[in-house]
Amino acid sequence: MTFTFLGTAAAEGWPALWCPCRVCADARRLGGKNIRRRTAYQLGDRIHIDLGPDAFAQMLAFDLRYDRIEHLLITHSHADHLCPEELHYRSAGFAPDPGPVPLTVWGNAQVEERIRAAGFVLESCRARFERITPFEPIDLSEGVVATPILADHAGEEQAVNYVLECAGRTLLQGNDTGWWPEETWAFLATKVLDIAIIEATYGDHRGGAHHLGAEDVLDVRDELAKLGALASDCRVITTHFSHNGGWLHERLEAFFAPHGIEVAYDGMTLEL
Ligand SMILES: [Zn+2]
Ligand SMILES: [Zn+2]
Ligand SMILES: [Zn+2]
Repeated sequence: MTFTFLGTAAAEGWPALWCPCRVCADARRLGGKNIRRRTAYQLGDRIHIDLGPDAFAQMLAFDLRYDRIEHLLITHSHADHLCPEELHYRSAGFAPDPGPVPLTVWGNAQVEERIRAAGFVLESCRARFERITPFEPIDLSEGVVATPILADHAGEEQAVNYVLECAGRTLLQGNDTGWWPEETWAFLATKVLDIAIIEATYGDHRGGAHHLGAEDVLDVRDELAKLGALASDCRVITTHFSHNGGWLHERLEAFFAPHGIEVAYDGMTLEL
């Protein structure tokens, strides 16, 4: 099943909205893998992670069919990961009848609240909401299971990442993680990851709570290895970059390549 990186930027995109800085100017000039939309992913035709402000642009860029999505997994309520108003366009009047296939939106209490506050009823949009519980697996049918794991990212809100399992293979989606809490490390110690996606939002400087930098990615990778959570041929891939991190794609690759870590870009695909 194909897994696609639809966006690999932090909240402000890259080049960042409103930003006159040097690395945003460089990204504009160089283009290609330096152009990063807000973070989202798709697995096959039916499963999508996060729906941010670039959802429309991602549909056009990657020839997506949102009308075929059955499960929308939301990591947390921050605006770069959840744009609730876009769900409204599933309703009659915006989408024809028969419209898109029924959609289940999965998320925490704050995600549910933001969707409710957007001023429409999800049920009128051929969709329903399901509250997630950290570490409780979700059966997405056709052999795909997603398990939300707790991040250390959004204060009181229980921000999550997802572990996706499909046909005996396991992928960890790790953006907006911070340094995971103990219970998450304990859960990951029970898994053998074939693909580990780890954020490097802060690039050349370290993070901790909320987000990570490039050096932290090495620490996370080493910790996962110590726990026996990495398959011997596990692909470790880093994503969710901010211009504030200062490193364009080539510089990120120069840092990570000697460590056997790949750098994601918009449109990158993997087989899960
Ligand atoms: Zn984010
Ligand atoms: Zn900038
Ligand atoms: Zn966030």
